Amino acid sequence: MKIGVAKEIEMGERRVALIPDAVGRLVKQGFEVWIEAGAGEGAFFSDAAYEAVGAVIESDPGRLWHEVDILLKVKPPQQRENGQHEMDWLRSGSVLIGFLDPLGSPTLIQQLADRGVTAFSMELIPRISRAQSMDALSSQASVAGYKAVLLAAAASPKFFPMLTTAAGTIAPAKVFVIGAGVAGLQAIATARRLGAMVEAFDIRPAVKEEVQSLGAKFVEVKLEEETVAAGGYAREVSDIAKQRTQAAIAEHVQLADVVITTAQVPGKQAPLLVTDEMISTMKPGAVIVDLAAEQGGNCAGTEPGKDINHYGVTQIGPINLPSAMPIHASQMYARNLLTLVQHLAPKQALQLDFADEITREACVCHHQSICNDRVQELVTQALQVH
Ligand code: NAD
Repeated sequence: MKIGVAKEIEMGERRVALIPDAVGRLVKQGFEVWIEAGAGEGAFFSDAAYEAVGAVIESDPGRLWHEVDILLKVKPPQQRENGQHEMDWLRSGSVLIGFLDPLGSPTLIQQLADRGVTAFSMELIPRISRAQSMDALSSQASVAGYKAVLLAAAASPKFFPMLTTAAGTIAPAKVFVIGAGVAGLQAIATARRLGAMVEAFDIRPAVKEEVQSLGAKFVEVKLEEETVAAGGYAREVSDIAKQRTQAAIAEHVQLADVVITTAQVPGKQAPLLVTDEMISTMKPGAVIVDLAAEQGGNCAGTEPGKDINHYGVTQIGPINLPSAMPIHASQMYARNLLTLVQHLAPKQALQLDFADEITREACVCHHQSICNDRVQELVTQALQVH
């Protein structure tokens, strides 16, 4: 059975789906692994490193996409500069696995289904303990949370730790993290390691203990409604709850040297939590890192991919932070994919068991039809609009 790894062509994407260590493991298990020439370059893995563990290096992407049984990617297939759409190289009956953005690009999933491709979307791996080692949303979110703090520390005009020096005592920086999911918790841990005083808020009260166990203070807001949806995710809250949340976080934003926002609601635009008015009350020199920049931003005025200055506050809207740490982000992603491939092809042959929760939930299309209800709904809506 042939597994292929394509070179990512999206602008700024430096990760690669498998690193040589993972390839070596698959080759030892009896898989044939094809790597597109240069696929690992952005993450500092040479073709020679892949060859050394038994991979076949293929320089023609069209051939690689067409020949393999399972194609592994980071980002969805896309149109190349010459007009060729990568998806058109895929063979009917082949399997594609990657972050396919099924809720953002449902029509791509429909096209994959029409081609007879079976696709698994890493965004849809269920958040259950059995699937933890395949949970790429979590692995990549931890990279983003860590890197967000480093960006903030680099942009801050202040030290993070408390320092007692001959030149006087420096108070520790105050960091306020909004959204304590995987990225937020990693941001809290990283800011604490750098010596900052950390406060955090999340709409899900269940995270309070996790926040406290990392040495941060949890900001509590009493909301008289359910804030948790299926799968442990946050749900979109009422306007009253939004107002209460904003009132509660305003004073913490005002006192912070650094604000890191990570709040997301799956399938929705990110909630606006830090208003323009709040930013105007922040200390000059304060820094905001808005990790939700690509989903519309948690802070007023965030511009994805840009650092802006509002009221003397540096506001950073990073895009694709995991790609900024491509070695470890790829290492973790490769481990997620390796476990998923072993799950789907336990004896080096595909055995798709749709009674299994992981296979069923992560599969977006199979046998020319869309398997995910939410994606199907979005495709139907898109067809009605046209
Ligand atoms: P996410 O990226 O969807 O959202 C980030 C955080 O933003 C969440 O903690 C969410 O509660 C918070 N948020 C949303 N709206 C908010 C608002 N208005 N104000 C403040 N905060 C707000 O979340 P995630 O990191 O992917 O985690 C989602 C859930 O999945 C969590 O319950 C997490 O514990 C769970 N999880 C489980 C597993 C597992 O069991 N294998 C693995 C990872 C995550």
